[in-house]
Amino acid sequence: MCATTVVLSALFQRELIRRKAAQQTMAVLNAELRQLATMDALTGLGNRRQFDEILARECRRAARVGKPLSLLMLDADHFKSFNDRYGHQQGDQALKLIADAMQTALRASSDTAYRIGGEEFAVVLPDTEQASAETVADRLRQAVLGQWMPHAGNPHGLVTISCGVAVLSTGSSDGAAALIAAADKALYEAKRQGRNRVQTAVSTPNQPPYIVLSRI
Ligand code: GH3
Ligand code: MG
Ligand code: MG
Repeated sequence: MCATTVVLSALFQRELIRRKAAQQTMAVLNAELRQLATMDALTGLGNRRQFDEILARECRRAARVGKPLSLLMLDADHFKSFNDRYGHQQGDQALKLIADAMQTALRASSDTAYRIGGEEFAVVLPDTEQASAETVADRLRQAVLGQWMPHAGNPHGLVTISCGVAVLSTGSSDGAAALIAAADKALYEAKRQGRNRVQTAVSTPNQPPYIVLSRI
């Protein structure tokens, strides 16, 4: 009887240990899966899904705590022509280098970068007002330029990016969609003005949008 109890309790103990190990493995696999679901495979940046989640969360937080929130929309210039000249693989390589340059140029841990489309990127800057957002945007632009990736189809001779900046000012009840629309519009304007530049969306109707930096 005693021996049976000892054997049974040993078996029970072993089963408990086995289950615990299985649970730990499962937790690690789940964390890996979660990361894969939110990561862009080519660049390692966050993907569109994660961008949507984080931006919505940061918009709510900004409204709650009364802090500004800035959004940068970035797009590689003349990238179709880059692919046409150098091939899709080189294009992928260039996208990786753009992402690396952006990641390295971001200093605050709360500032996060995403690849949200083919050659389109976004950066969310919590607690950041317009002047600082423009500084960050231009640092990213210069960081990409600093990779010195030759691009004969770009008037600058190198791979460049354009950037649209939009700010959700303190107290604004606008949501993520309005912020994206404003940053997109500013990006479109940066393209129209000649690319390789940063353009800010200005909410005051009488004030014309202005260009922050436009040269190499
Ligand atoms: P613009 O300066 O106006 O942005 O011009 P663009 O040529 O960059 O823009 P357009 O939208 O005409 O073309 C985008 C190109 O980006 C199309 C495609 O060749 C390239 N592209 C998009 N996604 C990828 C990708 O994952 N890998 C590679 N290599 N190229 C991509
Ligand atoms: Mg482009
Ligand atoms: Mg594009």
